[in-house]
Amino acid sequence: MSEFLLKPRIRFGQDALTVLNELPARSVLLVTDQAMVKFGLAGRVMQMLQPRGIALQVWDDVVADPDIATVVRGMKLMDNSYPDTVIALGGGSVIDAAKAVIFALAKTRPDAQRQRPCFVAIPTTSGTGSEVTAFSVVKAHAEKLVLVDPSLLPDIAILDPALVASVPPAITADTGMDVLCHALEAYVSRAASDFSDALAEKTVQQVFRYLPTCWRSGDNLLAREKMHNASCMAGMAFTNASLGITHSLAHALGGVFRVPHGRANALLMAEVVAWNADYQGECDTEAARKYARLAHLLDLPAQTPRQGVTSLLVAIRALKDEMAMPDGIRDTGIKATDFEHQLPEMVGQALRDSCTPTNPRTPDAQGLIDIYRRAWIG
Ligand code: NAD
Repeated sequence: MSEFLLKPRIRFGQDALTVLNELPARSVLLVTDQAMVKFGLAGRVMQMLQPRGIALQVWDDVVADPDIATVVRGMKLMDNSYPDTVIALGGGSVIDAAKAVIFALAKTRPDAQRQRPCFVAIPTTSGTGSEVTAFSVVKAHAEKLVLVDPSLLPDIAILDPALVASVPPAITADTGMDVLCHALEAYVSRAASDFSDALAEKTVQQVFRYLPTCWRSGDNLLAREKMHNASCMAGMAFTNASLGITHSLAHALGGVFRVPHGRANALLMAEVVAWNADYQGECDTEAARKYARLAHLLDLPAQTPRQGVTSLLVAIRALKDEMAMPDGIRDTGIKATDFEHQLPEMVGQALRDSCTPTNPRTPDAQGLIDIYRRAWIG
């Protein structure tokens, strides 16, 4: 028997943010970051809450890739005010920080008088799908740890495309490739199901169709809405089916060298697809057949698994090129000697990453070193 968990309630589409007018809150902690302040998005949310007499506390300096110190800071803030509602407004970093704070407070202060706050997630990037996942990624020193617990799932997710319009092209590309990676990894995961497959297939089609438009014309709200929904659908797929070694390798690369999460996935994705498909060998794996099915859905040549995998690899590389993304890890400013020096550490982290067990092909250290070295060149 298997399970497919569906949570939270999702409000989506243009003006979805207005659902905040109906929020039955008396006290709110707004978790956000400086970009949200700069682009006026935090102000918009505050203007909706303040006239209703809701007590509002704002934590607006969450940093990208939150670490344990960030979570501890948030715990102190929330412990003081104990709000009935937490609103996370931002990218995956902000949502993950809020998740970790709520989770850690519930674990360390199990006070029966205190109810778990209502948790509202408002993503402002189309990337992580964190608004619908039971995961939170927190950095400890140079390692990204993935917290996994159903209690991390928000209660309400608000997907308003207008909130993504200000994302600059480079971050649109990074986060959009993260969406593609979530769908690809959930699709070939050992824990994939009919349900996650359906979500992943739709996601892949929408990413190839709409991501380049979002990158070129950030204010195209139709394309933004399609990518925002795709990000959420991919989140629903991978919170159930889990992920694979692109993510394990990307977590380690991001933890050690601070490469943004989506960019790290983009740099590794094609090499992992080729490795999972056994592209250098027979190219006759279950993963190869599923990649070919995706190529077929994209109307690309896919008469055989090898032809389908070739088509998909070409399409992934073309999508990266179209958005002027770096070809290989070597194009991100990391020194070759530093990269080689850190390979054993990164491979160790990737092998123990919680995304590794569901990868369709079981990796060993040498396999991961080979993938990193190929992705170095790109
Ligand atoms: P991010 O949240 O780190 O944001 C990237 C940058 O974009 C930040 O500087 C941010 O301020 C800015 N930004 C966000 N929204 C903006 C907007 N509307 N306009 C202008 N700038 C904006 O990036 P992300 O890719 O969304 O999240 C990455 C983090 O999420 C990583 O730590 C990653 O490991 C984690 N992650 C979590 C999950 C999960 O399920 N919880 C899944 C994948 C990744």
